[in-house]
Amino acid sequence: MNKRAKISVHGIVQGVGFRPFIYRLANARQLAGWVCNTSGSVEIEAEGDERAISDFLTAIRTQAPPRARIDDIRAVFVPVEEHAGFTIRESLSRENTYQLISPDIATCDDCQREIISLTDRRSGYPFTNCTNCGPRFTIIKDIPYDRVKTTMSAFDMCSSCQREYDDPLNRRFHAQPNACSDCGPALWVTDSNGTGIECDDPLEKSSELLDEGKILAVKGLGGFHLVCDATNKKAVALLRERKHRRSKPLAVMIGTLEKIRGHCHVSDAEAALLASAAAPIVLLRWRIDSSDVTNLVAPKQKYLGVMLPYTPLHHILLRAVNKPLVMTSGNLSGEPLVKDNEEAVARLAGIADAFVLHNRGIHVRCDDSVCLVDDGRTRVVRRARGYAPDPITLPFDSRSVIACGSELKNTVCLTTGRHAFLSHHIGNMGSEEALSHLIDTINHYKNLFRIDPQLVACDMHPEYVASKYAHRMAADRGLDCVEVQHHHAHVVSAMIDNNLEGTVIGVAFDGTGYGSDGAIWGGEFLVADWARSERVGHLEYVPLPGGEAAIRRPYRMALSYLFSLLGEDVDLERLPFADIDTVEREVIARQVKRMINSPLTSSAGRLFDAVAAIAGVRNTVDYDGQAAIELEAVAADKRAVSGVYPFSVDGAKEPSIVRLRGMLEAILHDVRDGVPAATISVRFHRTMAAIIASVCGAIAARRNLDRVVLTGGVMQNRLLLHLATDALEQEGLRVFSHKDVPANDGGISLGQAVVAHLASGE
Ligand code: ZN
Ligand code: ZN
Ligand code: FE
Repeated sequence: MNKRAKISVHGIVQGVGFRPFIYRLANARQLAGWVCNTSGSVEIEAEGDERAISDFLTAIRTQAPPRARIDDIRAVFVPVEEHAGFTIRESLSRENTYQLISPDIATCDDCQREIISLTDRRSGYPFTNCTNCGPRFTIIKDIPYDRVKTTMSAFDMCSSCQREYDDPLNRRFHAQPNACSDCGPALWVTDSNGTGIECDDPLEKSSELLDEGKILAVKGLGGFHLVCDATNKKAVALLRERKHRRSKPLAVMIGTLEKIRGHCHVSDAEAALLASAAAPIVLLRWRIDSSDVTNLVAPKQKYLGVMLPYTPLHHILLRAVNKPLVMTSGNLSGEPLVKDNEEAVARLAGIADAFVLHNRGIHVRCDDSVCLVDDGRTRVVRRARGYAPDPITLPFDSRSVIACGSELKNTVCLTTGRHAFLSHHIGNMGSEEALSHLIDTINHYKNLFRIDPQLVACDMHPEYVASKYAHRMAADRGLDCVEVQHHHAHVVSAMIDNNLEGTVIGVAFDGTGYGSDGAIWGGEFLVADWARSERVGHLEYVPLPGGEAAIRRPYRMALSYLFSLLGEDVDLERLPFADIDTVEREVIARQVKRMINSPLTSSAGRLFDAVAAIAGVRNTVDYDGQAAIELEAVAADKRAVSGVYPFSVDGAKEPSIVRLRGMLEAILHDVRDGVPAATISVRFHRTMAAIIASVCGAIAARRNLDRVVLTGGVMQNRLLLHLATDALEQEGLRVFSHKDVPANDGGISLGQAVVAHLASGE
């Protein structure tokens, strides 16, 4: 006897070829009925033989398309209707329900074959896509995911494209951004003023310009890239000069995995990550001897950030140029990524010699993601294209919180039920544009996922742009705004990332975070759960002479440590900054002594800066974390270096204070003895690991805890992470660090959302 089942499927089931998949399954089993996207789910009614229906339900789970993610299937029997045939119905919008949205997906193998074929109708077409690949999140304005609600609504499909779109057996059946050269978006090249350059083939022309050493602004998936030949020293130097980016590493795009292996060491896990649907930038061990990528691309780095082409445009361009290309975010220093044509020409004219533009609109600006693989495990450093807007799953039902994050590398996080939508990377909050990017991002996620906020969360720092905005937004909506301590947010973000409940020891090592005593924290040992945290230990306080100035000039931090821990008359002879202006030196000595314009800090990031300066690695920095990154990069093989510096812990009462005088004396001693920075770096890292193990061991014993989470930007240091993990495991402790959520401030908003939900009561 026939039955009719009504089925709801939740998860990532739109924009991934799910309805055609259902259609094929139903037809193969001679089931009648329909399938339909709603803003909450995919709804199906299937009528036919009972066994066929049960087989159909199993097949939905087991044979789903590669990019689909099924969270939940529910089925109930309803009265039979006895209509024949299976159809795909118009999408329905439903109040207060939402649908997960697929991130953008790198070009699939089938589409790659078509664009390089000489005979396919999509040969050389830079906007080729199908249900398995192409733009998604960056073009979607609203749900349900249909062409009219994307930036592709501006294009009418030609009859050939429409046939593919309507044919359930075609790979492009209901592929919303489906297009071809007859009907879809087009590409053109302009000079630096935005005036079109006549040419037969824009990408052939682009390739010529790149060969000549020109800098191009290329419109991509989530914004513009600034592009030049990565093997051309002069071109890279010019790009750096024009972008005012002296030494911060630039990412490189290389045509194939095989070619990447000529420049970098690539493990199996790294190869899989590079070639994944997300196609992030992966930080690979650079084979500097065999790579012709100029060292100006990533000066003094051991790792090179590399990605594969992820759109047809990139595939065609890389084949034409046939060399590695620098592909760095098309923005002005400190501003968000540029996404629109006019905006690009207006803002990037002083940087780019030519523009490669197209007329497919970008609705959401989204940077490239950055990942690394460590011990076979992927760690996301910057979470953006290819990952957002996939939610992080919460281990509880959360109220709807909007968390506004921190100041640097910022993200926001919006929660509803078990979903935490940790946004794509927004960036540093130092400009007007950054704040409007943050507001746009909040509004977009709020609208897409139908989130009605009940609570706002922000950092405790009263001067952060994002905190001020959070307070304004909360006041406007009559909501509570919960201020969350920075390092507590770090620890909770790591707990969620590792599915940890209960109480843990959190080691939060970073550059800057506002402490509840008004000092600048950053070398913190917390005992924390989702709702509360207690500061049970920290690195000893030293003054941060001149505030921000000390962050840009690590030698100021070195002097602060030396003056405050070893005394004003410490002998600075033969130190790498002995020639620094004597006036400035005296000013710093006075600032440190009298604490003028010098807030106290326990920052581990600043300690790394100070040691980098004392060891002669770097006196000034052009980007966040540079001194620490270079100190790690110069480190010798840890097995070849013995020794650890002395330190002590005042542990009589909480919080325990880590005393660093002994270590600084010993480092000075090494420097004066001519011990190379490579050795000092290893000894210093080992000392930091010993400090972490010693403090955590004592806390664990005192509080009867055995789990430690390592978090904060400093914990992106692989050498420190490995040494600390080993040392903690020797203490018998279990160690957790970050995976899907960045260890840096990109994860803060997630931690804030969780703390706010729990701390403010049910
Ligand atoms: Zn495809
Ligand atoms: Zn077409
Ligand atoms: Fe931080």
